Amino acid sequence: MLYRLDASQVANGVKNREFSAEEYIHQILERIEVVEPKVNALVTVNSKGAVEQARALDKKIRDGEAAGPLAGVAVSIKDNISTKGIRTTCASKMLDGYVPPYDATVVKRLQDAGAIVIGKANLDEFAMGSTTEFSRNGPTRNPWDISRVPGGSSGGSAASVAALECAISLGSDTGGSVRCPASFCSVVGLKPTYGLVSRYGLISYANSLEQVGPVGRTVADVAATLAAMAGQDDNDHTTAPGKPSYLVSKMPLRVGLVKEFVEDADPKVSKIVYSAYDTLEKEGCRCAEASMPSVQYALASYYTIAMAEASSNLARYDNVRYGFDMSPDGYEWNSYFAKSRSNFGEEVKRRIITGSYVLSSGYYGKYYLKAQQVRSLLRRELKSLFTQFDVLIGPTMPILPFPIGEKVDDPLKMYLVDVDTVVANLAGIPAISVPAGFSNNNLPIGLQFMADEFSEQTMFDAAYTFESVAKVQRSPDL
Ligand code: GLN
Repeated sequence: MLYRLDASQVANGVKNREFSAEEYIHQILERIEVVEPKVNALVTVNSKGAVEQARALDKKIRDGEAAGPLAGVAVSIKDNISTKGIRTTCASKMLDGYVPPYDATVVKRLQDAGAIVIGKANLDEFAMGSTTEFSRNGPTRNPWDISRVPGGSSGGSAASVAALECAISLGSDTGGSVRCPASFCSVVGLKPTYGLVSRYGLISYANSLEQVGPVGRTVADVAATLAAMAGQDDNDHTTAPGKPSYLVSKMPLRVGLVKEFVEDADPKVSKIVYSAYDTLEKEGCRCAEASMPSVQYALASYYTIAMAEASSNLARYDNVRYGFDMSPDGYEWNSYFAKSRSNFGEEVKRRIITGSYVLSSGYYGKYYLKAQQVRSLLRRELKSLFTQFDVLIGPTMPILPFPIGEKVDDPLKMYLVDVDTVVANLAGIPAISVPAGFSNNNLPIGLQFMADEFSEQTMFDAAYTFESVAKVQRSPDL
């Protein structure tokens, strides 16, 4: 069953000609047919393109040409990341039928490394949400319990990796959208340091907060995917110079447990986090409690900034330059514009309206600037903590995966689930979610590691130290 293999096993097998990329891709496509009716993780399956890419790669290998580090590996791409010739919709009516004329830099780099795009993954409309319920394509379901949410907004990415429809996936993380579904689906998900990965071709939600991040079933696969796509890009001037590589190994480090994160979590979650703390201590890490008092302002600050940026970014969708054909009766600008934009979903509209409000004169200082001050405060607190600790740990999500429909009508309840993830986005630091265990009723719980800017290597070492002894990795019965 080749579809069960992790990315590193696929790349080795293909390169050593133990099996062909084409055989593997065929098995992946069959697997997708079997599980997709249950999980609804993919909005487009690139069957023909994937088989063609696999054949081309097999030929290259037969001809003795070098194959990349991700040779043959099936990858799903969140549907807000541009893929040349493959429909990219952001799960929104606004981008119905939109086929990008170019690849995002991250997609191109993964393909150059040998990865094969198997399909596009479901998400909350324009990546705004935490459950994948705000998708025009219907909700993705958690592979561990299909009556529950997979997390979001990159729910399709995490669910497709957990359900063995691909070995790795790309999501985007503005306030936790890679880590939340990784935690809920028991896979590994990373948000890189701001500026490590190109955003060129990622359809913007809130530019100052977001990064594209990899999802995989092991820390090593996530590190290899990050290495393949990270580094400077002339098309994104926020990228930092250099091209990193990572070697994942066990390392006794200084670990701080963020007190505020565990205190507010569901006891079933904190129990697992405390036992992870003990595991790390047994592995020789120097563990202690850490405190970040300004965490209490993080969520309000995040949603203020994210909505402000969203209101500006989404102004471009007027159904003139992008989007579906509404067959308008006449082109009077105001009514046409209003009619077009009424096609956004409720959550997106809510954010555009709230975002415009916090930026309006009279309220700008009270809300937007205040939120930016919190951001500076958090950064300062973290800088000082990272002189004492190599990594900070805590729960990725304060709660267990909940039933579909439970929070969908209550925006505040929905926003609250992001308390532990938004901190890393506000501060621009890297964070990773690693499977930490399961509740009594077999629901996944994730452990989050955060490190200082551009300290991905240290974070991988800490995450791997835990992963290699905790041995939580397994797959759901589907
Ligand atoms: N749940 C958060 C939001 O709705 C995060 C989304 C994301 O990271 N894209 O804004």
